[in-house]
Amino acid sequence: MPHRVVVVGGGIAGLYFTYRLLSAAREVEVVLVDPKDYHEFVVGVPMAVAGLVEFKDLLFPFRQLTKAKFVKARVAAIDERCARPAEGSGPICGDYLVLAPGALHIGSAQYWSVEGSAAIAQAAAGAKAVRFIVNELTPVAGFQELAYAIKSRWPEKEVSIHVVYIGEDYRSFMEVGKRWAQEIGLEMSEEPPPWRPDELYIKVPAARPHPLAAGLEVDPTTFETQYERVYLIGDSSLLKLGLPPIGWGALWQAATLAKAIAKELESGVFEVEAESWLAEGDKEKFLQWMVYRMTSGTPVIHLKGLYDLWRGQVWRFLSA
Ligand SMILES: Cc1cc2nc3c(=O)[nH]c(=O)nc-3n(C[C@H](O)[C@H](O)[C@H](O)COP(=O)(O)OP(=O)(O)OC[C@H]3O[C@@H](n4cnc5c(N)ncnc54)[C@H](O)[C@@H]3O)c2cc1C
Repeated sequence: MPHRVVVVGGGIAGLYFTYRLLSAAREVEVVLVDPKDYHEFVVGVPMAVAGLVEFKDLLFPFRQLTKAKFVKARVAAIDERCARPAEGSGPICGDYLVLAPGALHIGSAQYWSVEGSAAIAQAAAGAKAVRFIVNELTPVAGFQELAYAIKSRWPEKEVSIHVVYIGEDYRSFMEVGKRWAQEIGLEMSEEPPPWRPDELYIKVPAARPHPLAAGLEVDPTTFETQYERVYLIGDSSLLKLGLPPIGWGALWQAATLAKAIAKELESGVFEVEAESWLAEGDKEKFLQWMVYRMTSGTPVIHLKGLYDLWRGQVWRFLSA
């Protein structure tokens, strides 16, 4: 009998975990649970805004999955290693439960979804200037990339980011972004913007841990929770660990956990290959590593490479 791994959430973390686990382990089946019909490749949104890909190309229909079993359901609660859907079917149980439900997003500028960001791009096309206002401790990531994409596509528009308030850890990312911003004439300031008609104001939403993650403790090295063989990865996990909820972090957690579970299935030993900074619990070094990963390349073009890899490798493998 193959081991069964239930993955809650088919975003970047859940899907990449599934890909890495199924690539590394035999005798394992993955059940992926998500309320949507499509995986949304959110990291690619700025590319679509910049006109490098179509918005529709960021949607990957879950029904095309062949290597993993897809269950369309919104999980309302977890109980041991079972996910309980809000309605419809009974509990979905496994030998392992990997929670990857993303973060809870609070705000009206829905650039975390393909549909919402397409609407923002349309509004930006018709506005004289586009101003992003950041006034949150943990804002939803991606606003810098979006601003960059809008300025690249419409260089004649004034595009600015106003960081009135932000958590300290985000500042290191903002510093790097400042360099890209200056190069293309994107303004950055710490003052709120003046109000003018014909301009588009985007209040950057806040990210909080998902309700499914409430009450869960996360081990920073193994992503285990206090419940045996129940793990939390992705945006909610990063937020709980006090780290910025960004895609590179979600991918790193997904890959690390997949390797450890594959190893346990093969040899009976759950072993995390921890980078030295991780083993030492050094948050500063983690942030430096993340900044390096995010900046080794021109942002939007760099992400095009990631998109091609996602479509050509990750999705191709899972849907072949
Ligand atoms: C516009 C934009 C640009 C970005 N650019 C970058 C970038 O350049 N670099 C970078 O590193 N990061 C970037 N990010 C951040 C990155 O996209 C996120 O960190 C990443 O998507 C997090 O992945 P995740 O799988 O944890 O969550 P998500 O991608 O949000 O996926 C969560 C999944 O869980 C599902 N789900 C939710 N609730 C339930 C439930 N109750 N039951 C079952 N399933 C559920 C959702 O439907 C969704 O499919 C960007 C974000 C945005 C919005």
